[in-house]
Amino acid sequence: MILVLLGPPGAGKGTHANLLETKRSLVKLSTGDMLRAAVAAGTELGRKASVIMERGQLVPDEIVIGLIAERLDAGSKGEGFILDGFPRTIAQAEALDRLLAERGTTLDGVIEMQVDDEALVERIVGRFTCANCGEGYHDSFMQTKVPGVCDRCGSTEFVRRRDDNEEVVRSRLEAYYAQTEPLIGYYKRQGKLVSVDTMSEIDVVHPAMMQALDAIKSKSVETPG
Ligand code: AMP
Repeated sequence: MILVLLGPPGAGKGTHANLLETKRSLVKLSTGDMLRAAVAAGTELGRKASVIMERGQLVPDEIVIGLIAERLDAGSKGEGFILDGFPRTIAQAEALDRLLAERGTTLDGVIEMQVDDEALVERIVGRFTCANCGEGYHDSFMQTKVPGVCDRCGSTEFVRRRDDNEEVVRSRLEAYYAQTEPLIGYYKRQGKLVSVDTMSEIDVVHPAMMQALDAIKSKSVETPG
């Protein structure tokens, strides 16, 4: 199964992709994670991307399309892929359709994660993750049980993304509305869009996401191809 999570920064794409990945044996492909790994490794691609990412803009389509093509070719160890943060432009969406068709498969569905605009900046600016296991937290909404200690692995080291500050977040939101939001219409026209309200707590949103995924899955079984 191939599933896309679509939504503005701060909608919870990464968090919910991680949860669905575990529960439904899918492999998460996050272009943001791939680009941050390239930045950390200091590759040429990473050096090019980091300047753009720090401005909150989108890196060129051909770079992210290349990254996704490589991962699709590496195959899935699970039952398919969840794409988190890709596609983000119509050109990327068209490239994805093409890449999948060339591999004899097709996109099963897209979950649009809906959040109120005002909540996004607060959600993003407060978030941080464990430097060791990657568990996600938030200054206001999800603190560690013991201050300064990761609930999952006990590490005391945490990191914040460089682009999770208010100024860059505003540019990222602008990029979303200008370049990514048109994908809602693109996928609606293909009959592939399911929308989920993701304003509530994770415990409430997660079952709704599972339901959306299962609805997409049963539809793709009824009408293969
Ligand atoms: P994310 O982790 O998905 O929020 O992505 C972080 C940053 O990486 C974005 O603000 C962009 O600069 C870049 N990025 C990630 N995915 C894409 C994509 N599909 N197209 C263009 N830029 C991307």
